Amino acid sequence: MSMWFSKSQEEALKELEVNPAIGLTSEEAQERLEKYGENKLKEKPKKSIIALFFAQLNNMLIYVLLGAAAITMAIGEYVDSVIILLVVILNAVIGVFQEYKAEKAIEALQKLTTPRSLVRRDGDIKEIDSTEIVPGDIVIIDAGRYIPADLRLIESVNLQIEESALTGESVPSDKNARDIHEDPKTPIGDKSNMAFMSTLATYGRGEGLVVGTAMETEIGKIAKILDEDHEEMTPLQRRLDELGKILGFLAIGVCALIFVIALFQDREIFDMFLIAISLAVAAIPEGLAAIVAIVLALGVTRMSKINAIVKKLPAVETLGSVNIICSDKTGTLTQNKMTVVKQYTLNHAQEIPPGETSLQGTQDEQELIKSFVLCSDATYENGEGTGDPTEVALIVLGDKFQMAKKALNDKYHRVGEKPFDSDRKLMSTLNQEGKGYRVHTKGALDNILKISTHALVDGGIVPLTEEMKKTYLNVAEEMSNDALRVLGAAFKDTNSVIPPEEMEENLVLIGFVGMIDPPRLEVKDSIHQAKLAGITSVMITGDHKNTAVAIAKELGIAESIDQSITGTEIDQLSDEEFSHRIKDIRVFARVSPEHKVKIVKAFKSHGNIVSMTGDGVNDAPSLKYADIGVAMGITGTDVSKGASDMILTDDNFSTIVNAIEEGRNIYNNIKKSVVFLLSCNLGEVIAIVASILFGWPVPLLATQILWINLITDSLPAIALGVDPGDKDVMKQKPRNPKESFFAHGAGFRAVLGGTLIGILTLTAFYFGLAEHGYSLGSRDIPEDILTYARTMAFVVLAGSQLFYSLSMRNEIKSIFQVGLFSNKYLVGAIIVGFILQLGVISVPFLAEAFKVQNLSPLDWGIVIGFSLIPLTANEIIKIFMRTGAKN
Ligand code: ATP
Repeated sequence: MSMWFSKSQEEALKELEVNPAIGLTSEEAQERLEKYGENKLKEKPKKSIIALFFAQLNNMLIYVLLGAAAITMAIGEYVDSVIILLVVILNAVIGVFQEYKAEKAIEALQKLTTPRSLVRRDGDIKEIDSTEIVPGDIVIIDAGRYIPADLRLIESVNLQIEESALTGESVPSDKNARDIHEDPKTPIGDKSNMAFMSTLATYGRGEGLVVGTAMETEIGKIAKILDEDHEEMTPLQRRLDELGKILGFLAIGVCALIFVIALFQDREIFDMFLIAISLAVAAIPEGLAAIVAIVLALGVTRMSKINAIVKKLPAVETLGSVNIICSDKTGTLTQNKMTVVKQYTLNHAQEIPPGETSLQGTQDEQELIKSFVLCSDATYENGEGTGDPTEVALIVLGDKFQMAKKALNDKYHRVGEKPFDSDRKLMSTLNQEGKGYRVHTKGALDNILKISTHALVDGGIVPLTEEMKKTYLNVAEEMSNDALRVLGAAFKDTNSVIPPEEMEENLVLIGFVGMIDPPRLEVKDSIHQAKLAGITSVMITGDHKNTAVAIAKELGIAESIDQSITGTEIDQLSDEEFSHRIKDIRVFARVSPEHKVKIVKAFKSHGNIVSMTGDGVNDAPSLKYADIGVAMGITGTDVSKGASDMILTDDNFSTIVNAIEEGRNIYNNIKKSVVFLLSCNLGEVIAIVASILFGWPVPLLATQILWINLITDSLPAIALGVDPGDKDVMKQKPRNPKESFFAHGAGFRAVLGGTLIGILTLTAFYFGLAEHGYSLGSRDIPEDILTYARTMAFVVLAGSQLFYSLSMRNEIKSIFQVGLFSNKYLVGAIIVGFILQLGVISVPFLAEAFKVQNLSPLDWGIVIGFSLIPLTANEIIKIFMRTGAKN
């Protein structure tokens, strides 16, 4: 590897054969991509399908089953052993499939969030996936972006890069493209003419030549193999996992107990084994974790289609609990399509008519526009703007007054600058002006007034008096009351090139403009919808208070100016006072990113679950601190995206509300699946335990329970997990995150459903025996009669579970209100379930293997009737709940 930091820019460019003004051509880039490979660090090798398969076998149920297979084998019940082993394999295959599908979904989402970079190719600036970057590319560096590869800088303007990923040093280092380091041992932290992959530009801008990609970078050398283990369980998954373990141990305890009881009942050893195994199979809730994983994965895939990319799975659960949405104004609540509609220089107000292109300005106005245009980085060509919309509006304004950006730039060369940041709310450039230089500053009018000592009035520079300040502020206030964003401009002349620190002082105020930024049309509805859902929307903005409140009123966020507060006012309050006042505040104006952390803290101190949006470098702390940090997909910096839980690909406030709705639905669906699975397991346990306690023959064999648990149950459970959303979900209050999973009668319904299913299974068993003249207490019941009765129990158990799943779709609405056929997957799962059930008992070899037989038509009638009872009972309870809710 050559030592790029010791070479001049020219040497480096020559060696990599690229002209920095044009960049590589697409063909060259393609060739180099093939030669050097994709620009990404090696990942840990993925688990193979085989490894996944064996991972599935590592759980308690499987141990029990393998034990059972061994025992049945030992005593010569080979058919049972085969069935059990088949079930083990099938279970693992289904598990692998679900895990694979879930993983694919997450992977696809991660692709959507891989960083992109700006490069110059074919003479144009293009945004490409960072993985496509090749040596020789010219990369444009902006504050807030990750450095995508190792770069030899060829241009730098106040560039600072935070290199903690490499050096551990969190204070950003200053970069200078013109430096050359002769010493070959220069430490990484001192290589000021280089930028390294995975570090972060925090300030300024620059350009760099790609000298190393992928594993050939400094970070690649350290991280030979990147250990990206992102397997984290969501709180809900963790809780269910614990619940599963507890239930599993309980099951084993009960098994042992039953075993002892059965011993006293003089049952045969072999029977006892089978009973104990049946019970273990019935009680161990094997499907829970898998169901939650797949429902979450399918859910986040669905959310990505409505423009919300969830980066961390736990966020889905938290989303359902959000009751405060803090949102930036510009671009999220508004369209970020700025247009200048008014301008003001002292004693001269001017409306800017739309469409007009040949406006004539006074001398002061021309100076105003000149400063604005020169102090902007945006471009506007052929009706299309790039860069900050605020600046695009200024350049469009310049065009209207025949002061085109290009022409001005050529005439007044830029020689220095101090970039915009949202703390100062100012930006300055230093341009040539005749034989000397001129500072052009633009920004928030209040801040400009603070650093101005003079004003430009009718072409002359006069001292800025208090009275003049008042006049300016009055006019500006009127504009902001009309929801206009006010931006001021000032200048000063110097003889020499001055450093950025000296630019923003002793300025001459020229005037200001007012620009509109219309609200997004759909946002008003979303705010209303959020309100109905018990969610308060709050606006946070760097803009002026009056402007902010005017827009907040329009959108329904606030009703009066009393509901607003400014950053300065916040600074004067203690944390306690602020936390007390915050309850009534809906608009936070003129705030800096640091205030956002304070705001989140204060809201959280009242137990609120807060979502916060952000896009800038400095927004990362507040995004991390919020319960749900939301980054902007279009305008957001890499840093903000990295710190967020969710990314909006359309930067739209409405998407947050839609995501909350999805989040609520996903949580509800998980709940439905889990409660359903638990009621099914409980039903089986009750049927078995009761038969043992009362000394009856067992109504179900282990293989039969296995069949139902792993085949018939899992289809409706998954179908419940993808239940279409309840349209009334946004009419309810947010879920309390501390609330138990079994709150609101979910636990009761699981127990009730389970108990009914258990009792009905036993009753069907009894009917089967009674039809042939036996009762539950009879001794020496012939095997074929037991088989017949067990078949009835078997079908009722499966059938009642299948029907019951319909009722699980909504806690209070009837199955008809929800729509009997509105979840096609569930209808399909039920039909398939019945077909499978019918198949098992009527296909001869299956029937023999599972020790079941075909039923008479009359008995089919009985089992279907029984099967409908748990569903019906639950529906009747719902009727009472609905009338109760009305009163
Ligand atoms: P939000 O936080 O809702 O996105 P915002 O976009 O108004 O609001 P900032 O971008 O931090 O917040 O801008 C704050 C203030 O800084 C603006 O009100 C404006 O006065 C000033 N400002 C914005 N953009 C520029 C710029 N490019 N140059 C100079 N000043 C600017």
